[in-house]
Amino acid sequence: MESVFAPWRIEWVERDDKNPDADCVFCSFRDADADRDNRVVARSDRAFVLLNNYPYNPGHVMVIPHAHTGAYGDLDEATLLDHAQLKQRTFDALERGLGPDAFNAGLNLGGKAAGGSIDDHLHTHVVPRWEGDTNFMPVVGDTQVIVEAVDDSYDRIHDAFAQQDGTSVPGPDAAVRIETAPKGL
Ligand SMILES: [Zn+2]
Repeated sequence: MESVFAPWRIEWVERDDKNPDADCVFCSFRDADADRDNRVVARSDRAFVLLNNYPYNPGHVMVIPHAHTGAYGDLDEATLLDHAQLKQRTFDALERGLGPDAFNAGLNLGGKAAGGSIDDHLHTHVVPRWEGDTNFMPVVGDTQVIVEAVDDSYDRIHDAFAQQDGTSVPGPDAAVRIETAPKGL
């Protein structure tokens, strides 16, 4: 029997130690500078890409719009386009950096029933898949190994974003900056 596969149920739950009072960890990472420490790997005008510290698979990231809302209908046109184009770039970067066989991508919307733990700032999970893979976390189990694996994924994905057209890297520990405005704006 095959179980239902829903990697977007695996949520990012680690506290932001530097801003323990911040109401929303995604907003605090949006506004912070320490991209490498925070594992923010790429930034566009209206969205950013964050590695999941508790990945379902290596390269499990979230593409997060700047707007603090849990309602998809609240996103304005420019944000929708920018978020979608950053997803396109994310698939490309994961493809180049990690060479998966496939992807799962999804949103949790509508609160706890959807399975997510952060429901007031929407985010798209993108999970690379390999033939015959199985949940990376239970397989690996060891915290130090997971930290090293996430660091390694960060470097590979960062390099792959940096190879894309219309990008720059503003500093040694900075996320890759997507320079090109969304098409049509
Ligand atoms: Zn937020």
